[in-house]
Amino acid sequence: MSQKVSLIRGDGIGPEIVEATVRVLEALDVGLQWEEVRAGSGAFEDLGTPLPEETLLSIRRNKVALKGPLETPVGTGFRSINVAIRKHFDMYANVRPAKILPGIETRYSDVDVDMITVRENTEGAYAGIEHAIPPNRSAAETIILCTRWACERIVRYAFEYAQSSGREKVTLVHKANILKETNGLFLEVGQSIAREYDDVKFEDLIIDNMTMQMVMRPERFDVIVTTNLFGDIISDIAAGLIGGLGLTPGANIGKEASMFEAVHGTAPDIAGKGIANPTALMRAAAMMLEHLEMGEEARRLQKGLNTVLEEGESVTGDLGGDASTEEFTDAVIAALD
Ligand code: NAD
Repeated sequence: MSQKVSLIRGDGIGPEIVEATVRVLEALDVGLQWEEVRAGSGAFEDLGTPLPEETLLSIRRNKVALKGPLETPVGTGFRSINVAIRKHFDMYANVRPAKILPGIETRYSDVDVDMITVRENTEGAYAGIEHAIPPNRSAAETIILCTRWACERIVRYAFEYAQSSGREKVTLVHKANILKETNGLFLEVGQSIAREYDDVKFEDLIIDNMTMQMVMRPERFDVIVTTNLFGDIISDIAAGLIGGLGLTPGANIGKEASMFEAVHGTAPDIAGKGIANPTALMRAAAMMLEHLEMGEEARRLQKGLNTVLEEGESVTGDLGGDASTEEFTDAVIAALD
């Protein structure tokens, strides 16, 4: 029986890059069956809710979703639907690889950048425990939630990931010098779990030092494990090191379901123009194929992408080319072995 995948086209450039990715997956003939469901601002406008029940039921049934970016109103309006889906299914590990791809010119082209950020995805500053204090929002409070249990499972995930993928080091990033309770707990758990994995090196770094080190010596990082807020920021720095948001995929892994997406957002400035770079979502699709134990198909997809990026003739504007999303996709399909 073929694997069903919940497919969310999303907002902004979402429908364009999802269409491109579906075309490549169909050319790979992996036999996936799409179950299309809605989420985001478009769903809110058309259906009166940014996250219809049907979408949640579909993801629960299929256990795997491929998702385009979703718009989140800033400051007011509904809360992030990305965060809501991750929390609903307890997708606790957000995994974002950052490796310089062939043919991509970055400021770090001479450096061996190849790091994976494993971000705690369910609590921290993003637990959604916040309120305004009256009168007139004269103050506001957000609570950072940190449970020993969630710290343990994310740190363990990072070590298991390092071990199973032959990586050498885990760097735990925190702010335990100031956030002594929440980040202190995260660090304490990390140090304790690290002792169980003597074949993987361990270090911890304070977030401010970490951001500087990432820019100055990115080659020293391998697997990074961190809290929700720091992981959000660090993974964007990592995306910048390898050539931008258009290239970086992300996986949200949980026991109940997993969701694969690009790290970037809806790119409203270029939406509808047919010029978005679908590489990040295609690489997220390759991570999804790996997750579905279709490693050979994942390899073919990544190889096709690498060929087009390396040749550099059919790349999109963000990579210095002038190809449309469709032309780039045609080239990737032509390069599949
Ligand atoms: P963004 O990632 O959408 O855009 C930042 C810049 O990168 C823009 O200049 C954009 O044109 C460019 N860019 C992004 N993806 C690109 C691609 N594939 N090809 C070429 N250029 C690309 O960030 P933003 O403007 O801060 O956010 C816009 C919206 O996206 C917001 O509503 C935000 O909440 C949402 N968002 C969603 C997700 C998600 O669904 N996972 C992630 C981040 C932001």
